[in-house]
Amino acid sequence: MGGQDTQGAIPATLIPGDGIGPEITRAVVAILEALGAPFTWDVQQGGLAGIEAHGDPLPGVTLDSIRRTRLALKGPLTTPVGGGFRSVNVRLREEFGLYANLRPAKSMVPGGRYEDIDLVIVRENIEGLYVAFEHYIPIEGDPHAVAISSGVNTRAGSRRILEYAFDYAVKHGRKKVTVVHKANVLKALTGIFLETAKEVAPRYAGRVEWDDRIVDACAMQLVLDPWRFDVIVTTNLFGDILSDQAAGLIGGLGMAPGANIGADAAIFEAVHGSAPDIAGKGIANPLAMLLAAGLMLEHVGRQPLAARLRVAVDRALNGDGIRTRDLGGSASTMDFAEAVIRRLPEA
Ligand code: NAD
Repeated sequence: MGGQDTQGAIPATLIPGDGIGPEITRAVVAILEALGAPFTWDVQQGGLAGIEAHGDPLPGVTLDSIRRTRLALKGPLTTPVGGGFRSVNVRLREEFGLYANLRPAKSMVPGGRYEDIDLVIVRENIEGLYVAFEHYIPIEGDPHAVAISSGVNTRAGSRRILEYAFDYAVKHGRKKVTVVHKANVLKALTGIFLETAKEVAPRYAGRVEWDDRIVDACAMQLVLDPWRFDVIVTTNLFGDILSDQAAGLIGGLGMAPGANIGADAAIFEAVHGSAPDIAGKGIANPLAMLLAAGLMLEHVGRQPLAARLRVAVDRALNGDGIRTRDLGGSASTMDFAEAVIRRLPEA
């Protein structure tokens, strides 16, 4: 059933992850094989599985593999509570300079609160308030009397993410980029983002329209009239919030893929976590990770394969009505995978 890839194999790191990670990874890999995706997987561990295998949620061998392949598909990782481990996701972003977080939100199943949502949030992934330059000032015996945090946004970092968003818009035939900020209050921290947008955007004149919006107004308009947005680009904290809000418009995190992209490495993942409550039952929805694999195919220039994958998903979900429990159906993880495989269009 496997299609033949004529353009050569692409080595990629595969981190199945924790909880439902291995189950959904099995399903996604089976579909990718049937599709004839070009990836040859170097399977490595992370999260709890990394601690069990190598004593570290982000083992050196896993990092070495990504250094080699520059491309990874990652299952959800359980964050160990206590034990002093830093967030694996933050470590990966820093290690590989993954400055762009790409979160498309596209309606896949009709009948939700909103129909026909199709927007993309591009979030700056490294700077802003998430640099976590924080401290407390103790006063009169209260060690936490005052909390202070400094955000850092740079001209170079702003330019890089804005150019990424505009280039993405051009490449994907998107009409408009909305630059989201809070420059009326955080005049320096997010003013620099708007100021840099005014320098970058004119270079795309005639190819992509643009406007700018204050984050609170954007949040409201995303609820009232999400169809007015196409690509949204914003700083780290605002992007974190707005990208989950956008996922809510299409029925929640269960169907939301994400990509973390740097100058020379990219990591693709489902946005949801390891779902320990349903792990091992074979009922998890593999769709978010599958859509992340679709983004990965686009990233390596295999748009036709990504398009065939989308068609098969749509046919399985909406033509055959094969849905996992979180979407109101009764299909198992592998039932869904098999349905997608059956519905793959011919190359
Ligand atoms: P979660 O996303 O794992 O689960 C929230 C709810 O959504 C649960 O009821 C779960 O059963 C359901 N759910 C999630 N994914 C599903 C899927 N594919 N199919 C069907 N149902 C699904 O969030 P949580 O419970 O807050 O976190 C669990 C663990 O995952 C924590 O250790 C957390 O730190 C970690 N986490 C990891 C990532 C990541 O690696 N990217 C992201 C978020 C959370």
